Amino acid sequence: MAYLPLSVPSLKGNELRYVSDCIATEWVSSVGAYVSQFEKKLAEYVNANFAVACVNGTSALHVSLLASGIQPQGEVIVPTVSFIATANVVKYCSAYPLFMDCDDGLNLDVEKLEFFLKNHCEKTKLGLRNKETGRIIQAIIPVHVFGYPADMKTIVRLATEYHLTVIEDATESLGSHYLNEDGGKKFTGTLGLIGCFSFNGNKLITTGGGGMMVTQDQKTSQRLKYLTTQAKDDELYFVHNEVGYNYRLTNIQAAVGLAQLEQIDLFIETKRKNLSLYKKLLDNIEELSFIEEPKNTRSNCWHYALIVANSGEKNRDGLMACLKENHIESRPIWRSLHCQKPFHDSFSFHIEKANYYADKILNIPCSSNLRETDVERVAACIQKYYGRHSRT
Ligand SMILES: *Cc1c(COP(=O)(O)O)cnc(C)c1O
Repeated sequence: MAYLPLSVPSLKGNELRYVSDCIATEWVSSVGAYVSQFEKKLAEYVNANFAVACVNGTSALHVSLLASGIQPQGEVIVPTVSFIATANVVKYCSAYPLFMDCDDGLNLDVEKLEFFLKNHCEKTKLGLRNKETGRIIQAIIPVHVFGYPADMKTIVRLATEYHLTVIEDATESLGSHYLNEDGGKKFTGTLGLIGCFSFNGNKLITTGGGGMMVTQDQKTSQRLKYLTTQAKDDELYFVHNEVGYNYRLTNIQAAVGLAQLEQIDLFIETKRKNLSLYKKLLDNIEELSFIEEPKNTRSNCWHYALIVANSGEKNRDGLMACLKENHIESRPIWRSLHCQKPFHDSFSFHIEKANYYADKILNIPCSSNLRETDVERVAACIQKYYGRHSRT
């Protein structure tokens, strides 16, 4: 039986043509028409004023923190349910991540956040002081986990009230958006000061590796470009007045990205359709449920987070092993960040739900080129694990 991976790219559009163009014209390096075009088209797609390409999602987050003036020894609020990069970048700035719990959608629990800000922090001349650690909290990085939009309305309201910068980790949620009452859309990544995207191989669209930052603020976008291109203050004499980074995306990568972006609506449609099919095929198994799309949002459905109840002999890791035996890849949710060694000296605020979900979430195959028959095969395997007959 063919191996069914969790999430792999689909490169059947103009990727080869655009990359061939880079080779033919010998524009292969870190400037070129595809870089500017990819930036322009991505900004248009999410309705942002500016976009700056960079080498990956991690560097996007790192430079965003630097551009927003994060100071060493300060704190940055990070959800404990995320990929390690969200917290690592805080360490890159010699600051401390401060971990918050998740809600039932696996996103930042805004009620707990508000309670924490109100009762455990104090406004001082230097900024918002965390009374538990004595450190100044400077920013917050909400993550749109698995593509599902976090409650940005509340997060932005609280950030404004407490003078915190918002950097969105939208690396998993390109295309996910909020539906306004007037029928308009507001895309994840465009609600904070800066939004960060990733084009790693497993993300919704890929450039092999790559990233992008979007912002509505021109000064911020100039600062992001400056920091990602070695902080060069004189093009000819190579004068640098600050430490910068070589975080550029190449023209070849951008060529792939542009071709991928042309197909994004199709990818999202396929992802959403396959998720519906999974739900339909598994709705008889009461031990299973899916993370739900928050109200008034439309997710890109990047990952299909399955909630597996522990019941008797049956549990998440048992299901994962069964799928593996049948050559189907699945993956548990990340180890919570507050439990990871590099952050043992960080403060975390009443983590409960994240601990509850830690052994229950399983991601199942969700590639944008997944066929209906693939979904049926996974569902049949899951039915077998629970001793039910396949419904297909
Ligand atoms: C993928 C991802 C990143 C990092 O992106 P890279 O392009 O792999 O560096 C950061 N945060 C989250 C939540 C991610 O899923």
